[in-house]
Parts: sequence; C-alpha cells; structure tokens
Amino acid sequence: MIAIAHFLLGALIGMSLENLLLIALLAFISHFLLDAIPHFDQGSFKHRKEDLTARDWGFIVLDVLIGFALALFLAFKFSFWQVAFGAFFAVLPDVINNFAWKFKLLKKPFFKQFHELHDKIGFKLTPEFLWLGILLEGVVIATILALLFFS
Ligand SMILES: [Zn+2]
Repeated sequence: MIAIAHFLLGALIGMSLENLLLIALLAFISHFLLDAIPHFDQGSFKHRKEDLTARDWGFIVLDVLIGFALALFLAFKFSFWQVAFGAFFAVLPDVINNFAWKFKLLKKPFFKQFHELHDKIGFKLTPEFLWLGILLEGVVIATILALLFFS
C-alpha cells in the first residue's frame, strides 16, 4: 500500500498500546496485512525502478512526506514514542526493501528472503481491477483516519 496507509496504521497501533516492543512487532506485521489487501501503489504495475516516471517519483515523495508529517503530528499530539515506534516499524519493511534495491543487495542473504516474502504476501493487482485496488485503499485509509480522530 502507499506509505500514508502504513504510517497511519502504525500510528494507530502506537496510540492503542503502551509496550514499545509489542507496538514494534504488531506495527511490523501490520505492514504485511495491509499489503495483502488488493491495493494500488507505484510498484503495482512497474516492477523495475527504471520504469518509474517523474510523476511516479513525485507521487512517492509526496506520499512519504504526507505520511511522515501525519505520523509526526499524531506523535506530538498523543504519546510520542509509542506513535513514533508504531509509524516507524509499520513502514520499515518498505524501507528495508528499498534500501536493498538502492544498494543492490537484493541477491544477498536476508535481503533476498525478505524481498521474496514481501513480494509473496503483497497482493498482485491486475490492471482491470485497478478501480478495486484504489477503492479498497481509500476505504482502509478512511477507516484508519476515523479510528485515529474519533476514538
Ligand atoms: Zn510493502
């Protein structure tokens, strides 16, 4: 899913619990749960970095900045370390993957297995179901936002 969804769910987990270790664990797992839902992100149809256009990169940067800003806002508003831990660990799987990609570590032990696991769990959206991916992603983000602000 897009980074905003991961940041928000991680923040929600952080707001709901006290124990940092438990928050880190659940937030990390939450990443894979969200990725298993049919969704659209910049990697859905473009599997190589070379295929990403300037517009895709613009979207990715904006997505990460907005997600980060929202998590920071929530961290200052609620329990700082809990929310920060939740948000960080919820995004971590994509950070590990992109780190491996950037530094050409995808064939190395750990990074290879991690990438394969992330890839296997992530829902593979086909172009004819793009609408469903966007719809479900919207519903997920709206639900998390509702839980964050109205509970
Ligand atoms: Zn992911």
